[in-house]
Amino acid sequence: MVSEQYADMVPVTKIQRFSTHDGPGVRTTVFFKGCPLRCRWCHNPETQSSAMQVYYTEKFCIGCGACAVVCPMGAHTFSDGAHRFDAARCRGCLRCAQVCPSMACEACARLMTVSEILAEAERDRPFFGPQGGITLSGGEPMFHPEAALTLLEEAKARGLHTAVETCGVFGDHHVARLTACTDLLLWDFKDSDPARHQAYTGGSNEGVVARLRQADALGGRSRLRCIMVRGVNMERTHYEAIAELYHGLRHCEGVDLLPYHPFGTSKAKQLGRRDEQHTEWMPKQEEVQAVAAFLRERGVPTVL
Ligand code: SF4
Ligand code: SF4
Ligand code: SF4
Repeated sequence: MVSEQYADMVPVTKIQRFSTHDGPGVRTTVFFKGCPLRCRWCHNPETQSSAMQVYYTEKFCIGCGACAVVCPMGAHTFSDGAHRFDAARCRGCLRCAQVCPSMACEACARLMTVSEILAEAERDRPFFGPQGGITLSGGEPMFHPEAALTLLEEAKARGLHTAVETCGVFGDHHVARLTACTDLLLWDFKDSDPARHQAYTGGSNEGVVARLRQADALGGRSRLRCIMVRGVNMERTHYEAIAELYHGLRHCEGVDLLPYHPFGTSKAKQLGRRDEQHTEWMPKQEEVQAVAAFLRERGVPTVL
């Protein structure tokens, strides 16, 4: 379900300056909090829920007990001198983060207006050069469609290059407006197998390709972002589907292959989750190269 609740304010987990991986040139990348999917390989688990959350980092805790005093939900408890954080009880009021003296409790997002985000991007404008600009990422930026689209339209009106990283799961009625205000769509194509997509992302891939084709028909430039998860989606039929999709698009620049890495598990632990670290999902370098060669042989410009 897509949230319409933040017309003016949007929860942002991070604004990354001088990014070079989220579109052309030097960019300011804004990570929105909230996503309709729950990918098991997600490297930004803090962006999945749109609710406010706290990171708890055990090694920073000095055991002062201030968090337990202010928490209205009893999420912080002490037993035999050991501090326990029960994330399931947390309602995101952020009081513990405000009183914690050692950054053991930290807010993992802040609510920002579109104007505030744009002001941060404007600070970086001197470094963008002819190609750079602003990228919306997450999470799923279109989980907050009004804020995302207003931000993109305003950025474009100011002459900034705009890019959006999207999982493609949002309302069909937003495609035309998104396409009009986005210079480059970085579009996830996670798995061509519907059952596997559902099992590993928690959502259907129905509509993801249809929306991309709709954007393409409207002239939207895109790149396909394809996660590679060893033992899950790394099979010939999926790469044939990527090549077929690429050749069916008129304005797609190519494919970015994204080998899985278990970056997200340490952040998941700070959120009080017990996600498994799937090191067996990491593709070997030669496997990644073989897939890149497979796609290039089929005329698909491919970047690792
Ligand atoms: S953010 Fe969560 S854990 Fe912290 S004080 Fe509020 S309810 Fe308690
Ligand atoms: S306020 Fe911070 S340092 Fe003090 S007990 Fe809570 S988490 Fe630890
Ligand atoms: S779409 Fe992206 S942010 Fe959302 S769960 Fe999947 S990997 Fe994480």
